[in-house]
Amino acid sequence: MNVVETKEKIWLSSPHMGGTEQEYVKDAFDTNWIAPLGPNVNAFENAIGNTLGSSVSVAALSSGTAAIHLGLKLLGVTKGDEVLCQSFTFSASANPIMYLGATPIFVDSEVNTWNMSPSLLRKAIETRISENKIPKAIIVVHLYGMPYKVEEIHAIAKEFKIPILEDSAEALGSSYMNKACGTFGDIGVLSFNGNKIITTSGGGALVSKNKAYTDRAIFLATQARDDAPHYQHSNVGYNYRMSNVLAGIGRGQIEVLQDRVDARRKNYEFYKKELSSIKEIEFLEEPNGFYSNRWLSCILTPSFQKREDIRLALLEENIESRPLWKPLHMQPIFSEYQKFIDGTSEALFERGLCLPSGSNLTQTDLYRVTNCIKKEWL
Ligand SMILES: *Cc1c(COP(=O)(O)O)cnc(C)c1O
Repeated sequence: MNVVETKEKIWLSSPHMGGTEQEYVKDAFDTNWIAPLGPNVNAFENAIGNTLGSSVSVAALSSGTAAIHLGLKLLGVTKGDEVLCQSFTFSASANPIMYLGATPIFVDSEVNTWNMSPSLLRKAIETRISENKIPKAIIVVHLYGMPYKVEEIHAIAKEFKIPILEDSAEALGSSYMNKACGTFGDIGVLSFNGNKIITTSGGGALVSKNKAYTDRAIFLATQARDDAPHYQHSNVGYNYRMSNVLAGIGRGQIEVLQDRVDARRKNYEFYKKELSSIKEIEFLEEPNGFYSNRWLSCILTPSFQKREDIRLALLEENIESRPLWKPLHMQPIFSEYQKFIDGTSEALFERGLCLPSGSNLTQTDLYRVTNCIKKEWL
């Protein structure tokens, strides 16, 4: 056995069950609601709605990516349209633009939240309008759980009458001025993938204050079947609904959401305190009124080389860490598209590292991480 195998693995972000999930899943078995839809789906949707407040309606779907796909469709995005998208994010934020044959245009981040820069968004819109193209939608992301500059971004969207798809896949439990992330956009998107703050193994949701959107999403997600005794279709449908079995996991998970947020915020505070002696390591603080679920705790190191040294040293200790998201405008698949950038996300990618952030990490785990990082400065 080599050294790595003798040390227990510390994951970046692993599932953390609350305890009641199996009861809800057992309900599904006992009542034979194994087929999609059923009481767990309805109850999970209600629980999400109660958590988010602001009288939103919720459609539980098979993934966050499916929710973005349907969300863009509902906002009227079709072939040839342009969609403005935050560049600093996971590829799933932008892939659905491609599914629809639309064109992504990437917008860089600002340094206070690492999310979409209001000034670059304005520049992108004004530039496209001056070339007689009005962007059809804006996809903006609360990355790593940190809310974007909601007020500024939404004011610009309103000024130009462009709808917002709010990618809140990483931000369930986060809020801006005491309002839940996921409720700000014309359409909001959540994810319950295995590494997110709560999980249904795989799943997502489309959220909106406009019930017509969630009704339509459910219609499209269940094969777009018209009201007729036989199977009749006037629209192209999708098979995107969440299953009743997985919604049972979700019901148990959402009961412990605040505990999960508290645990992840504690991880962040631990890292900040333990690494405070190293002046060269920077953290992303919450601006006033911004409340992050701290889905992942991230640090900025002094250089690309230092980031790699730390990442490899952690790996040697069997500890998983990950560079910050590679900006989409730098991805081979998206590199040909227009972009409005100022170097912010490129610098974050070069210097940034996500540390183990699971809500199930022990104090011992956390010390293993910080002790390993501290050694890089000895
Ligand atoms: C996870 C994630 C998604 C996609 O969600 P899935 O449920 O995995 O399809 C979209 N956007 C962001 C920012 C994500 O982190």
